[in-house]
Amino acid sequence: MDVADQIWFDGSFVDQRQATVPLLSHSLHYGSTIFEGMRFYDTVNGPAVFRLKEHIERFIHSANSIQFPLIYTEEQLFEAVLATIRQNKIPNGYIRVVGYFGAGDMELHPTKATRHVAIMLWPWDPRFGTQSISLTIPSLWRTPPQCTVISAKIAGHYANSILARQEARRKGFYESLLLDYEGNIAEASGANFFAIKKGVLYTPPEANIFAGITRDSILQIAKHLHISTRITTINPSHLSQFDEAFLSGTAVEVVPIINIDQARFQYSYGPLTRKLKDFYTEVTHGKHPEFSHWLQPAAPTPEVVHPHQKI
Ligand code: PMP
Repeated sequence: MDVADQIWFDGSFVDQRQATVPLLSHSLHYGSTIFEGMRFYDTVNGPAVFRLKEHIERFIHSANSIQFPLIYTEEQLFEAVLATIRQNKIPNGYIRVVGYFGAGDMELHPTKATRHVAIMLWPWDPRFGTQSISLTIPSLWRTPPQCTVISAKIAGHYANSILARQEARRKGFYESLLLDYEGNIAEASGANFFAIKKGVLYTPPEANIFAGITRDSILQIAKHLHISTRITTINPSHLSQFDEAFLSGTAVEVVPIINIDQARFQYSYGPLTRKLKDFYTEVTHGKHPEFSHWLQPAAPTPEVVHPHQKI
């Protein structure tokens, strides 16, 4: 679907057709962009962003990790995301926040390049998602944590993801499930891995992966639903023991895995994946009051009227 018309660009709204980047931008040459991907969903309180605070905090963490000097505060970025939704009048969608170094400095450590922040939206129908997927374990490894700040969302990291996704597609699979440098399951090219054995939920530890906000949401939801969880290394030799498996991520939400390398490992879209997927969808749509603090409505908060105030 096409990007929404109005892009928040360095503090003002511009038509997306006018929002362009110079060829000499540092981030275009070296992948020094930092970014965030979030979702907003139609709720009884209008469009609301899922876990906005955590996403903005991660954006700031990514900025700090690559010495990108942000001139906006956490509150200003928070408000700018909500204003972009209001400006475009879209009920459901995907949000990208990007920070990039523009022109003016081609040094690897850019001190003189211009810096920019932009926020853009795509209208996404929440029912428009992949039903279930087949994965392959690619020949490429996940970038080891010793090589970068693995918890930061830096565009350059996505060379690893692009190559892994391309390898999967070349081999006829939807997605890759990458191994970490120690030979254990890390994650997919843009989502985290979960597997289920005898009613227990397993997921790899944070050390060698980009531990997503959806992964955290699933772990908290599992706790709420009294589903036992083990955060532990998963060796590929363990994959045959699992009954169900799924990926989690902002874009894919919860997507069941039906096989890994075709007949090698096969899974059912079973009861626990279904339960977690349905509950997650309900949470994102504001159906569970105990998780409503994860949803930030885009509408301006109504001013509190004190009893003595005349209205
Ligand atoms: N791993 C990678 C490599 C990703 O790109 C993403 C998507 N941001 C995730 C995991 C999932 O993260 P989140 O749940 O925060 O979207």
